[in-house]
Amino acid sequence: MSSHAATQESTSPFEPTSLLRVENLSAHYGAAQALFGVDLHIKAGETIALIGANGAGKSTLLKCIMGLLKPSGGHIYLDDKEVTTASPAAMVRHGLALSPEGREVFAHLSVEENLLLGAMALKLKRHEEQTRLQEIYQRFAHLQERRTQLAGTLSGGEQQMLAIGRALMAKPRLLLLDEPSLGIAPKITDEIFAIIHQLARAGTTILLVEQNAARALSASTRAYLLANGKLAQQGRSAELLNNPDLRAAFLGAASHASPQASRLGAAGLTNIRLEKPDMRQQNFMPDFKDEDDLRQHQLKGLQWSVRHAYEGSSAYREKLDAAGINAESITSLADLQRLPFTDAHDLRAGYPFPLRAVPFEQVVRIHASSGTTGKRKVLCYTQKDLDDWKYLFARCYQMAGITPLDRVQIAVGYGVWTAGAGFQAGCEQIGAMAVPVGPGNIDMQIQFLIDFQSTVFCSTASMALLMAEEIHRRGVADKIAVTKIIYGSERSSVSMRRKISELFGGAELFDITGLTELYGPGTGIECSDHDCIHYWADYFILEIIDPDTLKPVAEGEWGEMVVTSLCKEGAPMLRYRTHDITRKIPGACTCGSPLPRHSRIKGRSDDTIKFRGVNIYPSSIDTILSAVPGLGSEYQIHLTRDSGTGQDCMRLLIERGQGVDSARNAELTHETEYQVKKQLLVSAELELVEYGTLPRTEKKSQRVFDSRIQDAIV
Ligand code: ZN
Repeated sequence: MSSHAATQESTSPFEPTSLLRVENLSAHYGAAQALFGVDLHIKAGETIALIGANGAGKSTLLKCIMGLLKPSGGHIYLDDKEVTTASPAAMVRHGLALSPEGREVFAHLSVEENLLLGAMALKLKRHEEQTRLQEIYQRFAHLQERRTQLAGTLSGGEQQMLAIGRALMAKPRLLLLDEPSLGIAPKITDEIFAIIHQLARAGTTILLVEQNAARALSASTRAYLLANGKLAQQGRSAELLNNPDLRAAFLGAASHASPQASRLGAAGLTNIRLEKPDMRQQNFMPDFKDEDDLRQHQLKGLQWSVRHAYEGSSAYREKLDAAGINAESITSLADLQRLPFTDAHDLRAGYPFPLRAVPFEQVVRIHASSGTTGKRKVLCYTQKDLDDWKYLFARCYQMAGITPLDRVQIAVGYGVWTAGAGFQAGCEQIGAMAVPVGPGNIDMQIQFLIDFQSTVFCSTASMALLMAEEIHRRGVADKIAVTKIIYGSERSSVSMRRKISELFGGAELFDITGLTELYGPGTGIECSDHDCIHYWADYFILEIIDPDTLKPVAEGEWGEMVVTSLCKEGAPMLRYRTHDITRKIPGACTCGSPLPRHSRIKGRSDDTIKFRGVNIYPSSIDTILSAVPGLGSEYQIHLTRDSGTGQDCMRLLIERGQGVDSARNAELTHETEYQVKKQLLVSAELELVEYGTLPRTEKKSQRVFDSRIQDAIV
């Protein structure tokens, strides 16, 4: 009876699936207390980072877990069994292995002898030992080359690989890595982190202790922050990485002006080491201090761009000369208004290499827009343009919380179109695994989602809906691992987003923006608060103009988006009219990002439907559909002209929602007619059709069918 009660006490009721659980752990070195009631848990397959300053207690915690230091209080559980007082050898047999701080390789033993020590506690048969050695050598080619060399003669990086290899000899279920990058050259650090990612992907559970906080956060899913032996913070790594307080602490140790930094400084966090963030460290956000700083940067970019366009492109020079502008005309951001607009016509007129502003020997690639009318718009890219594009695309992934552990299935067009190339480059830049499938091929897409366990799916909104419905139809929703969908190039309605997310098992949707004229996709993306698109104002200036008067609209008003590139070399864009309708959203975003934002694209100024004197954006229909419960997301607008009366007629074909019975037609029709009248100020004939009857395509679905006399559309 009493032993039964004791067993119940020693297994905590929470987190029953934890591989490792540490509860209220304290530790002393003599009289000095090093840990104060620390709680931590790790589930199988997770990579957990433990970060904190020197002396925060990170290594002490690892030693307690490994059985190298007896805790003075608290409990450690492995698979819900208490192991608080187990010996190090017992912990190895339980499936734990430690790669200790400072490597601690045996200098006078050979590489191979060091490796064999890692499995000693397991008393393996000789052939099993040899099999494991070969596996280690496959992972660490350096070690195989030096297998007979004394460990003391290895470089620091090689010793670190040896220490990790030695820990892996035990085939641990949980690998404890203590400061794997300490004192190691950046290039080797990259290799070691690449190996950590591989191990994590292969299913090894990892507890990573690192002073290089940004790196550790980038490599992990969750993190614990220790300060002075106590748990100071914990949470998802991507969120911690974007936490402004923590960033201030990591980056701004010297900036005592920052109150957040000094508050964390008081907690002993300010000597966390962070190398200057570079591309491999997952920070692609700009570092401007405030709006003034950004404006200064934009002015410099604008001056450079006008000079570059004037000097490099005869087409621009003619336009600028005609407007009385020369290479030195820009002295303030207000001068932007003096520049002439550029539009699709300028691009087509200059076919095949319009607005090219660098010599051909600097052009390393071209892309073209998927224009269906007239000549395609072809854009030239220099190497720097491609690098910039890759960087700002990586920023999109970062904003969506993508990490190197994600698997990104890219189902957009590759080739001369910009989409695939952009998604691919950004994915590789952020270090995630790209699954470059391209568009279409639903069978293969679903197969890959299941087999590769892709966590991110990138496509058009139409394709995402098509996939979502197919996943649902085949009943494989519980076999896929997609948590995020990045979609773009097409307007999407609230109800369509809702449907996609629901059928993908609650995946989070991120609307990505971009245009070929401005690198390609990736010039902005929806943030985790899902209210707006943040755009990269350090790469281009965004203006909103009235498409009729061409004057800027008032702050926050809807209008046409006009972009001016700030550092684009191959084909700079000066006040390029995108015809996309959006508005700037004033004020700061609740997500904490200082980057400015605009609304989701509402439509295009040139595909507005003119109907009986009223301008209708197709997106208004989306809004109506989203507002009437029982309607689906798919519709068609058919516009006809009565040859007798000459009057225009609009017929709306709308799908009912999934599972909604035709018995509700009368009620739904009534409500929809009311909404159409109220929101569009016109009357339309309605027809409700069964869910799934309107055609789905993986490209942009055609929704407007206009068979009126063509000249009336303009
Ligand atoms: Zn935001």
